[in-house]
Amino acid sequence: MLSEFNFIQQLKKFQLKRSDVFLGIGDDTAVLSASRGQYQLLTTDMLVHGVHFTSQTNPCAIGYKAMACNVSDISAMGGLGCVAVVSIGVPKKMSFKYVEAIYQGMYRCAKMFDISIVGGDTVQAKQLVINVALLGKVEKKNLVLRSGAKVGDSIFVTGALGGSLKSQRHLNFIPRVKEARFLVQYFKPTSMMDISDGLAGDLRHILTASHVGAVLNEKEIPCYQGVSVKEALTDGEDFELLFTIPSRLSKKLIEYKKPRGMKITHIGYITKDVETLQLCSHGRLRELTLKAYTHF
Ligand code: ADP
Ligand code: MG
Repeated sequence: MLSEFNFIQQLKKFQLKRSDVFLGIGDDTAVLSASRGQYQLLTTDMLVHGVHFTSQTNPCAIGYKAMACNVSDISAMGGLGCVAVVSIGVPKKMSFKYVEAIYQGMYRCAKMFDISIVGGDTVQAKQLVINVALLGKVEKKNLVLRSGAKVGDSIFVTGALGGSLKSQRHLNFIPRVKEARFLVQYFKPTSMMDISDGLAGDLRHILTASHVGAVLNEKEIPCYQGVSVKEALTDGEDFELLFTIPSRLSKKLIEYKKPRGMKITHIGYITKDVETLQLCSHGRLRELTLKAYTHF
């Protein structure tokens, strides 16, 4: 089987060119031409029993996460979610109460971000599967792609990284919409994405899309409590934002009076060494070959 990245690359040939598709496969969401000043954003994420949750997982949390990971992708483009459709594959024996609890969780997240669930599909399945597709919007001037990082830019992340599965944060994280909107408004990130497969692996997507390299400073990486640097670099499901801004703005961002509870950390810089990711520890640089979490 191909790696997930190559698998997706192979699927690109099935994209038909349309004048209203501004950006297709390859970023956190697709970007569609809408009105004069806005783009529409479209994304989808699927959760499967046995892969993303077990019979022990609280159904409310499953629903919350199914919506939240889509909101996270929309925020990574600088935008806001609007409407969602939800497809659900339900085993025959599952009670309505259980499915209702999933919807309660989904609704909790949707309400938080002013998103309306406007449709979906229900089928019978051998195991529980939930797919949420979310349509969002962003002002054209606020759109941020993975492909805009420039040599010399500073690299930042929100929150703390690693141990998301252990701490159960992957089920109740708050998508970084507030942070993303603050950033696009005041700092115009040159690139941004949400971290779903681990910092090291996901940063590579920015490096590839932007044709640049990066150095991460080991001691600056914000590790979640009890988490090693290696785990912070490779654990999946952080749902934090990873972004770059011109280095001349970096001091201003660090010192800026940010809204309450907003944590943003400077972790490195962009280099001209295309697709090379290096870690600086104790003043020494070494190439990072750590593999990110992959779905295959
Ligand atoms: P994310 O983790 O941000 O949701 P993914 O790694 O799932 O992103 O996907 C990366 C890119 O590949 C996205 O643009 C996504 O839309 C696209 N993609 C993923 N799976 C498929 C698929 N089965 N068919 C078409 N495009 C896909
Ligand atoms: Mg993403």
